Amino acid sequence: MTEVDVAIIGAGIVGICAAASLAEADRDVTVFDRTGICEETSSGNAAALAFPDVLPLAQKGMMRNLPRWLADPLGPLSIPPSYFPRLIPWLWRFWRAGSSRHYEKSLAAQSSLMALAEAEWIRVLDASGTRSMLRENGALELYESDAEFKASLPGWQARDRFGFEFRHVAGDEMAALQPGLSPRFVKGTFMPSWKNVADPKLLGKAVFEHARRRGRVAFEQRRVEAIAPRGGGGLLRLADGEAVLCRALVVAAGAWSHRLAAPLGDNIPLETERGYNTTLPVDAFDVKRQLIFSSHGFVVTPLETGLRIGGAVELGGLDRPPDYRRSKAMLEKTRQFLPGLKTDGGREWMGYRPSLPDSLPVIGRSRNSASIVYAFGHGHLGLTQAAATGRLVRDLVTGQSPAIDLSPFSPQRF
Ligand SMILES: Cc1cc2nc3c(=O)[nH]c(=O)nc-3n(C[C@H](O)[C@H](O)[C@H](O)COP(=O)(O)OP(=O)(O)OC[C@H]3O[C@@H](n4cnc5c(N)ncnc54)[C@H](O)[C@@H]3O)c2cc1C
Repeated sequence: MTEVDVAIIGAGIVGICAAASLAEADRDVTVFDRTGICEETSSGNAAALAFPDVLPLAQKGMMRNLPRWLADPLGPLSIPPSYFPRLIPWLWRFWRAGSSRHYEKSLAAQSSLMALAEAEWIRVLDASGTRSMLRENGALELYESDAEFKASLPGWQARDRFGFEFRHVAGDEMAALQPGLSPRFVKGTFMPSWKNVADPKLLGKAVFEHARRRGRVAFEQRRVEAIAPRGGGGLLRLADGEAVLCRALVVAAGAWSHRLAAPLGDNIPLETERGYNTTLPVDAFDVKRQLIFSSHGFVVTPLETGLRIGGAVELGGLDRPPDYRRSKAMLEKTRQFLPGLKTDGGREWMGYRPSLPDSLPVIGRSRNSASIVYAFGHGHLGLTQAAATGRLVRDLVTGQSPAIDLSPFSPQRF
């Protein structure tokens, strides 16, 4: 039987940042992933370090837009009818998370994690020599009517309470932030502290390579079948039959994490919000900064490697094949929003957001073993919160007191 110090399951951006952070604390880390380093959901996302995005989804526009969205089979939110019965418990929790008491608690917890997220990303980018991959152009959220703008105001007031900067814009100021927009957009909100990265896949690989070069991080391309507590540490059973003993075990397996946690008595209501996009060639349109079309549920991001158009939520589970008509529907809308957009040569993609009903991730220890740590469920914000999660995982594994209060993120909160 092989023995390692710390085993991490999952080489998505959360597992990568946890590995980098633990290596800094002089721990020897082995990362197990069935595909590769930053090859799944973390590879194709919209590249936002969305630090001001603190509103729980259950409230944020979603409830208001729900009937209209569900009526459109290729719209921003869809639930395949055959999957609906399985979703009912999750949807019930999601609905309850929108109540004002839960909403305020989530908002405060998310804001504390975001403050750490920004500080930790800047530190990780500097330490790994990847600061040049940071784009600090802010983001522009766009509205098609005064009514839509007014409906967004309570959300902006909530962000204001937590000190996030923004500015409502219109006319020439809006046109200067993004030339060439369709006149259907009458107002916008500019968020200067919103950031992006040049390409999420390249960033993830670069952060991992940096950690590996320091000599304390190894990668094994292998599927983990099951985990268990063993002798004060953890045991991994691999798909090829081998077993690995570790002193500490971190589960950062994204949307698949609950399958590993459930046999340990940790029944965590993780679902996947599947998301779609198309990445066009770089010269498809001169987009100055990330554009957010909230009422349509998608964004446009200028990357070093292309122009990425997408988002949407399909609550359809882990096993159904992708339905790329969703990518095409968002591309078609963008053609109307950015007249002159060149739509040829695009690459379609689907990813599995790991989502908990209260929009907060799980960061904490297993019910039955202090040496098994969970770090998953970041939903729409896994890239944004990965460096902070890596730091918190390190605090838990090394027995330091966590950088922020972890009770709102407890795996036992459900
Ligand atoms: C369309 C879209 C746009 C998004 N845009 C943004 C954005 O702009 N900003 C942002 O912050 N977030 C965004 N997100 C969310 C973000 O991409 C995710 O939250 C994040 O990638 C999750 O990272 P992760 O490391 O938890 O999971 P993943 O990236 O899914 O990594 C988990 C890894 O675990 C491995 N794994 C699973 N089970 C096993 C097993 N049994 N054995 C071995 N390996 C296993 C998988 O192979 C995978 O590589 C977006 C998501 C989508 C879909």
